[in-house]
Amino acid sequence: MPEALKRLIHNISLLPWIWENRATKLAFFMLSSNENYLKELRENILTIKENTSSCDTCFSITDAGKNICSVCNNESRNKSEICVVEEYLDLLTLEQSWGYAGVYHVLWGAISPMNWVFVWDLNFSKLFSRIEDADCKLEIIIATNPNLEWEATSTFLCEEIEKRKLKHKVKLTRLSRGLSSGYIEYADTMSLVSALRERKEV
Ligand SMILES: [Zn+2]
Repeated sequence: MPEALKRLIHNISLLPWIWENRATKLAFFMLSSNENYLKELRENILTIKENTSSCDTCFSITDAGKNICSVCNNESRNKSEICVVEEYLDLLTLEQSWGYAGVYHVLWGAISPMNWVFVWDLNFSKLFSRIEDADCKLEIIIATNPNLEWEATSTFLCEEIEKRKLKHKVKLTRLSRGLSSGYIEYADTMSLVSALRERKEV
């Protein structure tokens, strides 16, 4: 096999969720693709970081140069409901379900000491400032995935919110456990909407 092809297969195999034979297939796909497609792909990969940035409020991803994302900037969204998710992908899945009209907070992970992810590695401090600065009663919907990390993350949130002297009481809720896969990312629209609608107070 030519060295260039080996190098490409190696690069692709470093991507998450890609196994060796899938990497080989993708490399062959690229080899047979037209030049324009490959140029566009290269350009998009090279500029993805400079063309995106993080929302100052909820930490989701937005276009470069905009410090507020389209959800936080949307006047019709209910700012008294903040849905806390682990990943941006979870936010996208919830948005695609059309079942949620509040705003979000992306933690970018869940507390997992086994994987060296601690409270200070996640975006909790901005979430607490949002809670403290709120001028109305808030509902915090914990929409993290139902596993051990979820337990740690949700326990930490509950304890920290209870500790604080807040102007307005905070209602803490979680999604009902009706998701077939258990994970928001893989949930179908109907079960996601009903998990949201039937959310329970923590
Ligand atoms: Zn935002």
